[in-house]
Amino acid sequence: MNTITLALAALTLIPAPQKMSVTDGAFTTNLTVTYTRDAKIPAEGYRLRVAADGVKVWSSDEAGRFYAGETLKQLAEKGCAPLVEIEDSPRYRWRGVHFDDCRHFFGKEEVMRTLDLMAMHKLNRFHWHLTEDQGWRLDIPGYPELVKYGAVRSSSPRHGTRPNFWQSKDQWQAASDGCRYGPFYYTEQDVKEVLAYAKARHIEVVPEIELPGHFQAVLAGYPEFACQPDFANRDPLCVWGISENVMCLGNDKAIKFMEDVLDYVTKTFPYEVVHIGGDECPMTRWKTCPKCQARIKSEKLGDVHGLQPWITRHFVKFLEQRGKRALGWDEYLLGDVPQSAIGMSWRVGHGGAGHKCLTPGEWAAKGHDIVMTPCSHCYLDYAQGLQDDPFQYIGGNLPIEKVYSLDLCAGVAEKDRMHILGGQGNNWSEYTWNEYDLEWKMWPRMCALAEVFWLGEAKPGYADFKARMQTHRKRLIAQNVNCAPIP
Ligand SMILES: [Zn+2]
Repeated sequence: MNTITLALAALTLIPAPQKMSVTDGAFTTNLTVTYTRDAKIPAEGYRLRVAADGVKVWSSDEAGRFYAGETLKQLAEKGCAPLVEIEDSPRYRWRGVHFDDCRHFFGKEEVMRTLDLMAMHKLNRFHWHLTEDQGWRLDIPGYPELVKYGAVRSSSPRHGTRPNFWQSKDQWQAASDGCRYGPFYYTEQDVKEVLAYAKARHIEVVPEIELPGHFQAVLAGYPEFACQPDFANRDPLCVWGISENVMCLGNDKAIKFMEDVLDYVTKTFPYEVVHIGGDECPMTRWKTCPKCQARIKSEKLGDVHGLQPWITRHFVKFLEQRGKRALGWDEYLLGDVPQSAIGMSWRVGHGGAGHKCLTPGEWAAKGHDIVMTPCSHCYLDYAQGLQDDPFQYIGGNLPIEKVYSLDLCAGVAEKDRMHILGGQGNNWSEYTWNEYDLEWKMWPRMCALAEVFWLGEAKPGYADFKARMQTHRKRLIAQNVNCAPIP
């Protein structure tokens, strides 16, 4: 092994460390690790020294020790490592990957593979999107009809078609594949296995249970929770887009159902944060539903615009009583919602089903903690600007260079920046059919986000990242990751 290649190995780390000094050309094959706890090192941070007489690691917590190990794996992949000193810790504590198992279902093995790749990139939040109009993926005790009807749909848009969200029923019909999809869902045992696998990699799992919109798969199992149970065949939504069949907020039984679901979720998932959706909820059904109208009167909510903040307040408190914090897509913060509710900022000048849009800076100024997932930079189902790309995208234009340019605190006042918890890459799966497709869209763009979340303002710039990424891509391919090229 020539020594120049070895020194370069230290320069191909993804994400790059905060501080590193390399002894040019020197390397060791002695990879025996000695570990020392040092309370002064920041959370999740570490010090790593590779010297001729072996490797020394210091950290204040187990996560830091684990990340030192991940760095060492990249340094020592040829069986020897360059002599380096690294001092490293993350700029942001929320470094997430969102995984949509509803439009298409990927299953436990792909979840675990994603967790492995997250650990490699020092990513620590797995946002598991488990419920949608198009499918319900979590077995809930006491509600067997949920997976019986909600986890299977009678057809889906055919691969290769691209019906626009707003196209007519006839056009959707022409695009239908006519194939039963499912039943696909996770049992309690599956969830336990995923949680244990994630925990061993210092990843918190954040389950998402959508309410009050994106609800049609629930209504397939329990039509009585709808304002007007008039949709066909007890089927989840069989096209992409947003269903107008949402949760009836005038129905106490529908609310009790959601309390039972979230009670189970808070007991099953051990972490603090539970995502309760809250995005893109059409109010059409509420306008003509006698029960919803009665609720508006009895709770003095004014009109239908008062209903969603009312149910959000209810579930933010419900979760608080169980020692949890609610997280939701940013429009769920609209109206009078407790400051403890965390927002996931995804819209950038985007309508979001007619709800008004506040910037992350405005939300942070109101005292809400925010996770940044702007669709302009973090939506990995957007096209990546490759020539002859074999995969289909929902649209958009998001080459890796643009992803890397994300600044999580842009437009946020200095005094409010502590509210920006971090960021996340979102893998929506309408146009993502299988694991090859998923990995192509996620990697290498997720590498860019991992570096943005880890280094923040200290990131060294795209040219530097791109040079390291050429080697890192080979590293991913050697692990059989279907990693897209860098344009
Ligand atoms: Zn209703």
